[in-house]
Amino acid sequence: MHKRKKIVVKIGSSLLAHSENLTLRYAFMNGLMSDFAQLQKDGYDIILTSSGSVALGLNMVGKRPDEAGILDKQAAAACGQPLLMNAYRQIASEHNMDVAQILVTAEDMEVRRRFLNIKNTMTRLFESGILPVINENDSIATHDLRVGDNDRLSAKVAQMVEADLLIILTSVDGLYDRDPSEADAEFIHEVEDVSSHLESTTGISELGSGGMLTKMQAANMAQHAGVETLIANGIIERPVSSLLNNERRHTRCLVTGKTASPLQIWLGNRLQVAGTLVIPNAVATSVAAGECGIGRQDVLSIQGSFTKGDVLHVYDEDGREVARGLTNFSSEEVMLMARHIDMAVEEVIGYKTRSDIIGSENVLVLADNHLQIDAPDQDQKMVIPV
Ligand code: GLU
Repeated sequence: MHKRKKIVVKIGSSLLAHSENLTLRYAFMNGLMSDFAQLQKDGYDIILTSSGSVALGLNMVGKRPDEAGILDKQAAAACGQPLLMNAYRQIASEHNMDVAQILVTAEDMEVRRRFLNIKNTMTRLFESGILPVINENDSIATHDLRVGDNDRLSAKVAQMVEADLLIILTSVDGLYDRDPSEADAEFIHEVEDVSSHLESTTGISELGSGGMLTKMQAANMAQHAGVETLIANGIIERPVSSLLNNERRHTRCLVTGKTASPLQIWLGNRLQVAGTLVIPNAVATSVAAGECGIGRQDVLSIQGSFTKGDVLHVYDEDGREVARGLTNFSSEEVMLMARHIDMAVEEVIGYKTRSDIIGSENVLVLADNHLQIDAPDQDQKMVIPV
């Protein structure tokens, strides 16, 4: 028997809700479910990352998308999610398919045990031929620790299940070299280096929280995990199988270069970062080139209170974030070791150990990793020069 292929499909709010009255687009959902039913028979396990809860719940809380604040959206998500799942359940059953719901927060993906529970639940659902529908649990996710948009959530899911493919369906055909409403905008069929396309990707659809930028970031995350991403229009019959059969145009983001290790993927996905180190520009260049880790002589200042094993942001002197990495020491130890550079490590901290603050094997260089979280505003944290 052939191994079943795993595909993560991401559907944006603009495909699920009519923009004028924020009601469900049944015809679209029906086409999608009919396509999924056939694909399941053809040997694919599909995971649907579906937005729409906020858009579909806004009517109930009496708000339009442009006037809704965070609380309104959290309440709307609580109203819209059951509407969405009810529609999926009904439509799927017409195609002899069952659906299941998994709501996650960014933190759930970071705590190893919860991460494994989500993964194992999905595996078990596949065994019974059930379609998992995933969304962020917007009603309980705290603002600063949210994945925030389902493009990146879908990439995290693709990393988690080691998917064969990530498909992001949206309301445009794919990526253009500039705003597609400009007359000479050119369609981009294939993307190797996501970084070179980040500038042409501003613009957000009215209903979703993403835009082409978050799609490119998602593609970049997937790329590092060795997963190819297809970005395509969803408003078409057989939206997924037509792509698998290469019947229509789309943007394909290739997997290039080295696939990141599970540790690097985990480092890149961290939302909770415990502290910061500032290092000289010359050292930053070597770290970025993958030539070294960070020694105690390299620390110019530190921020935050952290313990061994926490993830640190590493900045150069001009405030550019260069890397993230796992620290071998607590903040107090780093401070002491950096201040007393002429003393042996053992004398300063009381035990014998290696002296790298962050070993080169525990560093994720950010040059070509467009992470899903912005670095914290440096000025807002207390800086302690060593
Ligand atoms: N989780 C949000 C929702 O269900 C969607 C986020 C997004 O649009 O990417 O409405």
